[in-house]
Amino acid sequence: MALEEQRVAIVTGGSKGIGKGIARGFAKAGYRVLVVSRNLAEAEAVAAEIGGGASGVAADLTTGEGNRAMAAAALDRYGAIDALCANAGAFPAAKLADMTEADFDFVINTNLKSTFLSVQACLPALKASGRGRVVLTSSITGPITGYPGWSHYGASKAGQLGFMRTAAIELAPFGVTVNAVMPGNILTEGLEGMGQDYLNKMADSIPMKRLGSVDDIAGAALYFASDAAAYVTGQTIVVDGGQVLPESLGALEAMEG
Ligand code: NAP
Repeated sequence: MALEEQRVAIVTGGSKGIGKGIARGFAKAGYRVLVVSRNLAEAEAVAAEIGGGASGVAADLTTGEGNRAMAAAALDRYGAIDALCANAGAFPAAKLADMTEADFDFVINTNLKSTFLSVQACLPALKASGRGRVVLTSSITGPITGYPGWSHYGASKAGQLGFMRTAAIELAPFGVTVNAVMPGNILTEGLEGMGQDYLNKMADSIPMKRLGSVDDIAGAALYFASDAAAYVTGQTIVVDGGQVLPESLGALEAMEG
């Protein structure tokens, strides 16, 4: 494929976990990928690993300045932005009774405000692409489920879907689609921070009896970015091994019995 025919994707939070899986998936599919995180060395290391002309850039995506620098880097290096995977996020836990305003602001800014700022910064280039794609990484937590300690996180992830629906309408006339992947529990550096006990119990509560892999999420993101999904906008796909399906713990026990 000639270089000018290769599509360009930005993957935020591409230095680790789900973002790294998405970046690798897009590179394999022939995209030139800009890997974004606050840590330049980590972003560049992932870019070198996935190849295909990928490069890394450091940006704090909670700021307009960081997002504008990210979009400018993509345009300087590749001359286009065809897909934006707005995936950067964080999930520190705090129970409601102890949650500080700073805790709440941090999670909302990292997960929700960054989504808005990233899309806005890439908007002119996505419109110019004529086949622009925005793929958000939301979650089952918030839009469908809850978990103690994650009221702020759940609000940020449900908020992304509210943002998505109006953005999808506003951008539809430009051929730009906006969709969201809703992962269940995916084994990443971030999730490992929850501890082995959490990971074991979570795997047990999933009908497929395993945590998801980052490649499971990359596949769904690639679908939304593909030509096959040109007429799909404002939609979600749950990728969770069936985690949200059981009506109760009894539903899983009945399988074993
Ligand atoms: P992770 O392993 O902790 O990776 C998070 C990524 O986001 C890193 O590359 C991190 O790099 C980047 N990041 C965080 N804050 C940033 C900021 N202000 N500016 C730029 N980059 C920033 O997390 P993950 O588990 O892969 O999660 C990725 C996304 O999936 C998140 O949106 C999360 O909510 C969502 N999700 C995850 C799961 C799961 O089970 N893992 C489930 C549902 C949804 P730096 O820290 O170096 O900046």
